[in-house]
Amino acid sequence: MQLRMQRLRNLLAGTWSEGQGDGATLLNPSTEEPLALATSDGLELAAGLAFARREGGAALRALTFADRGKLLGAMAKRIHEHRDELIELAMRNGGNTRSDAKFDIDGAMGTLAHYAEIAAGLGDVRVLADGDSIQLGRAPRLAGRHVFVPRRGVALLVNAFNFPAWGFGEKAACALLAGMPIVCKPAASTAIVAHRLVEVVADVLPPGAVSIASDLAHELPSLLQYGDVLSFTGSSRTASLLRALPSVVSSAVRLGVEADSLNSAILGPDVEQGGETYELFLSDVVREIRQKTGQKCTAVRRVFVPAALRERVRDDLVERLRDVVVGDPFAEGVQMGPVVSAAQRASVLEGACRLAEHATVLLGQSGVSPLGVPAGQGFFVPVTLLEAKDASAAVLHELEVFGPVATLFESPDDTDELVDLVARGGGGLVCSAYTDDRALATELVLGLAPHHGRVVLGSQKIAGQAVGPGAVMPHLLHGGPGRAGGGEELGGLRGLALYSQRTALQGDRALLDAIVKG
Ligand code: NAP
Repeated sequence: MQLRMQRLRNLLAGTWSEGQGDGATLLNPSTEEPLALATSDGLELAAGLAFARREGGAALRALTFADRGKLLGAMAKRIHEHRDELIELAMRNGGNTRSDAKFDIDGAMGTLAHYAEIAAGLGDVRVLADGDSIQLGRAPRLAGRHVFVPRRGVALLVNAFNFPAWGFGEKAACALLAGMPIVCKPAASTAIVAHRLVEVVADVLPPGAVSIASDLAHELPSLLQYGDVLSFTGSSRTASLLRALPSVVSSAVRLGVEADSLNSAILGPDVEQGGETYELFLSDVVREIRQKTGQKCTAVRRVFVPAALRERVRDDLVERLRDVVVGDPFAEGVQMGPVVSAAQRASVLEGACRLAEHATVLLGQSGVSPLGVPAGQGFFVPVTLLEAKDASAAVLHELEVFGPVATLFESPDDTDELVDLVARGGGGLVCSAYTDDRALATELVLGLAPHHGRVVLGSQKIAGQAVGPGAVMPHLLHGGPGRAGGGEELGGLRGLALYSQRTALQGDRALLDAIVKG
């Protein structure tokens, strides 16, 4: 299908309209062909936010949790109906392989469907109980109870370029179910998928419940006010700018940050080469380096292996990564597409060079011959595997190279020292540890958990059904401390907290219970 150069429409104040000027030109990163123009210049962004607060907020708050869940279910159904079209758009605008594109689109659909199911279980209530009643006096009648109610504002969802669909779905599911209207601000480079997604779901929602703008001037966050939520996903550099906004500093606007992370995979010294746990480790690491061309916040960037297995792991990883077929995702047999833009390619190549100052290059770093595109075209990078020469070099633990690049380290024998090395990442989204030794697994969990939002334990017992560390499940928390942003998304009902006010109620137990039961 040949795409016509199009102008992405913005949905603000219940009306679809085009911005003025040319804005950003969105490209196909394999061919560098221009695909669309994105801009919201000249549109009334503040009025759009006000409409969402007033109309969308009121409409959502009038609904029960079960009713809001039906809306999420209808959104998931719409995405399913447009699945093939969305996958193709993600391949064209994001440089995704078909399987990478499915990961994004199905991730959005699955997350919305999961929250639709949770909502059905909550029933016809408009107040969400947080725990049971607590007796406050000597007699049981005087009680206290915590409840969640929707915040009276708008949730601005600012997303990163790498997951235009899932990034929308995971934030939208929690915000809408909590009862907040959403305004989406997708990343410019891959905005086609996000805009099309909103186009296909908008009319199942009440007017004002969902809006979208390609605000290239980055004005939207500064237009937020008391009661609003700013839910951000992107780099820690941009997060720092948002944290300094006067409205955020004064705490009028609640900020949730999902930022970057140098995720680690650890192989336990008990693991035998060739066994099920070893194979699970290898296949997870290979997938997490290659999938989405390494443009995943949860991708494995650092690999820690015991001295006795270092050579074996090195050879196995090189063997499996060497033959990854890079090229235009529409070409037969391609396993890894380009990165999303010329700027990302420059950043990945430059980052790999900086890592290589302290590491031996085992594979990649430069030189790639993409399949299906003329030489010199497209934003392609090679899979790059490095081996640390100096495990204490700060750059190896601190520089997130957002591409298919990872560094191999020899683990110290002492578990505390290993944990200290991993912790030099400064807070991460996910760490995976592969071991069948229960005592070691426990020790690692206690050491690693304070530094990560999620710890994945790979072992022989679950090898056949394991979900890799890079897949974010709606059941479990997503986020992490430190440079990962300190945010908490998803995790079932926990994900609603950002968009809700938790309030303590005090009074007659029967009255409190009646309010909670609706
Ligand atoms: P980014 O440059 O920080 O941009 C993220 C979003 O913020 C985009 O929508 C961008 O819009 C917007 N933005 C940039 N500067 C802004 C400003 N001054 N004011 C308001 N908005 C601004 O990040 P990215 O390059 O898109 O994404 C890659 C990064 O995101 C990586 O570091 C990755 O680790 C992280 N990430 C984290 C998660 C997670 O869940 N923790 C998930 C995915 C990605 P424009 O595109 O229009 O500039």
